[in-house]
Amino acid sequence: MKQIPLRVHVTTMGCSKNLVDSEVLMGRMSAAGYKVIHQDAMEYADVAIINTCGFIEDSIVENIRQIMEITHAKDHGIVKKVIVMGCLVQRFKEQLELEIPEVDKFYGVDEMEQILHDLGTEYRQELLGERMLTTPPHYAYLKIAEGCDRNCSFCIIPEIRGRNKSKSIEELVNETKYLVRQGVKEIILIAQDTTRYGVDLYGKKSLAELLKALEKIDGVRWIRLQYTYPDNSLYDVLEVMKNSSKICHYLDIPLQHINDTVLQSMKRGHSKKIISDLLDSFRNEIPDIAIRTTLITGYPGEGQAEFEELKSFIRQYRFERLGVFAFSPEEGTEAAKLNDDIPFDVKENRVSEIMELQKDISREMNLKKIGNSYTAIVDRREDNTWILRSQYDSPEVDTEIYVKDQPGLTEGQFVKLRITAADDYDLYGEITGE
Ligand code: SF4
Repeated sequence: MKQIPLRVHVTTMGCSKNLVDSEVLMGRMSAAGYKVIHQDAMEYADVAIINTCGFIEDSIVENIRQIMEITHAKDHGIVKKVIVMGCLVQRFKEQLELEIPEVDKFYGVDEMEQILHDLGTEYRQELLGERMLTTPPHYAYLKIAEGCDRNCSFCIIPEIRGRNKSKSIEELVNETKYLVRQGVKEIILIAQDTTRYGVDLYGKKSLAELLKALEKIDGVRWIRLQYTYPDNSLYDVLEVMKNSSKICHYLDIPLQHINDTVLQSMKRGHSKKIISDLLDSFRNEIPDIAIRTTLITGYPGEGQAEFEELKSFIRQYRFERLGVFAFSPEEGTEAAKLNDDIPFDVKENRVSEIMELQKDISREMNLKKIGNSYTAIVDRREDNTWILRSQYDSPEVDTEIYVKDQPGLTEGQFVKLRITAADDYDLYGEITGE
């Protein structure tokens, strides 16, 4: 049996799905007796592991910069061995091995067992579902599947992560019970596309069934849904969400665009009508729901008329949370073969126009919340201010509620509060009770 290294430093790049992969790997290394550090400043380590993202050009540049920083630490004897794993390696392994020989070993996305073996320990089945949490102890991401069955023209993820692979409902119930034993109260369901959950295992979309199973678990207070896709199976989810006391009235549904011609070119497989009907149903059936979406502007063929249509859609549907990106052709995608005919500055102007529009919508919505009371969870304290979230807000990306210093609050506590003030994106409040 190889000598077990003492200290391992792990850096996670990219999305929450990558974070869960790191947490699983760290959980197993910690169970094997390693001293595992996550994300902190680089200090002496026997092994430094970077779990990479390779989604879009910007993230590739950022990841290469991070790898160089850590190999630099190796040159200075701060780390002995550098391992790079994840999506960037899955895309560019040969090139990376040629261009960055300072890295000791590169691993793709499905090589956790090999990494553990090469570091002198083994993959123990009985540790299934166990993780070293990196989020504040009261919330955690639950990765319900990996990979994607869709083939959106601009997206490289199916190439990197393969087809949709779901975890069984039983495995996810056990993982959630484990998380609750660690003190987790809010679980956030993630995947590349949560609406395709279960198709590979149960022959049908089973997100609604999974939600029903998870909400039965004692100790779970909030269940949050992210990364849904405009799909008819969401009507089943709507029924479960409507009748649940635990599933947050929150829906993260990246829509990318609304014009039918652009949607078709994006190979999204649905129309403006399907999207509008879905959104109308969620709004009518759950009037207080918060809907988050993500859009792409500047996609080939998005003329001024299509852009105007996108803006009027945003004005009409008034999303509580909205992110927008300028289209950038990703090597290896269908869309990269299209004529990227919209000048960069036009794309940038369209992004700023949409964010200006969204800022006004967000402010108007926030101002209407003044005087309202909500249940909120205490996330953290900064200086003399507590930072909380309501069921309408995901951690790290959505609105936060600031409460001036208040004795007796603790992280992960649920409280009642009243909104006293608002600005474009955040809220201010006072605690009114437990
Ligand atoms: S659903 Fe999401 S992950 Fe899947 S191909 Fe489309 S954009 Fe990519």
